[in-house]
Amino acid sequence: MKKILVLGSCGQIGTELVLALRDKFGAQNVVAADLKEECPENLSNGPYIRLDALNKELVRSYIIEQQFSDVYLLAALLSATAEKNPDFAWKLNMESLFIILDLAKEGHISKIFWPSSIAVFGPTTPRFNTPQYTVMEPSTVYGISKQAGERWCEYYYNKFGVDVRSIRYPGLISYKSLPGGGTTDYAVDIYYKAKAGEHFTCFLKEDTALPMMFMDDAIRATIELMEAPAEQVKVRSSYNLSALSFTPKQIFESIQKVIPSFTVSYEPDFRQAIADSWPASIDDSYARENWGWRERYDLDKTTSEMLKNL
Ligand code: NAD
Repeated sequence: MKKILVLGSCGQIGTELVLALRDKFGAQNVVAADLKEECPENLSNGPYIRLDALNKELVRSYIIEQQFSDVYLLAALLSATAEKNPDFAWKLNMESLFIILDLAKEGHISKIFWPSSIAVFGPTTPRFNTPQYTVMEPSTVYGISKQAGERWCEYYYNKFGVDVRSIRYPGLISYKSLPGGGTTDYAVDIYYKAKAGEHFTCFLKEDTALPMMFMDDAIRATIELMEAPAEQVKVRSSYNLSALSFTPKQIFESIQKVIPSFTVSYEPDFRQAIADSWPASIDDSYARENWGWRERYDLDKTTSEMLKNL
């Protein structure tokens, strides 16, 4: 029987992933774990444990004792936060991964999900329709850590047969929990301001296109990839995954169709340079061909869901 651990469960992705996994596999079979002392209310329908992903001894003994089959490792410092604390970002993003990869190598875990990001690409990568295999020279601490992580995932798969699966998430848009310090956070914040009837000041320029995705699509993709037969999972570094690509101006116009009085101004900060180094759109044909990925949300449908649920 499946027993799942989601480590880093209280963030933007973890909150929704835990709920979706509990729906599918039963609440008692999905343990949420995070640094946070208290279990957030929205995860209180199942088991929760405080666990530091960097505490090697504790993580090892807990996973071995509880006999988890699948581990989703979500604990990380995100792009904007990582730039402010590079040493710690490297430590957290890499060491936590090695702890889990080694447990799988030793046979204590059957399957790992570890998220990568469009941040693995850099300024020398083709910006439009960025291919799965292309130039990758990330220029952020976060991107460097994700690219290194991808290489190690593939290495553990090839060398030790570790069943590790990964997606290069684009910017994720959700209403159940707040984003955790990324460069695409504006595309969530803008809906909060619109819904509150306030003006929005955007930290990116109006014409900065970035790949994005509504959270429901991202969660469904994650579970579909994890449930795909192993032989269909041909990319063992990380899959490109795409749904939307839009600029701050386009998301503003999508919101204005619903709230005509909404206003936006643009004051780019240090995150503009990060965004400029990332792709504008992604070619995800491997995910489509290998395990049947299809998105369901376009920009207007995302806007409608966000404004309805916030
Ligand atoms: P988040 O910052 O919202 O959540 C991360 C969670 O990890 C937080 O609840 C935090 O308390 C927890 N955490 C941090 N350090 C920990 C530790 N030492 N031990 C245990 N828990 C710890 O991040 P997110 O947006 O949910 O992202 C999850 C993963 O997905 C990350 O690896 C991130 O790089 C990746 N990702 C996210 C996005 C996005 O748009 N949200 C895009 C690409 C990739």
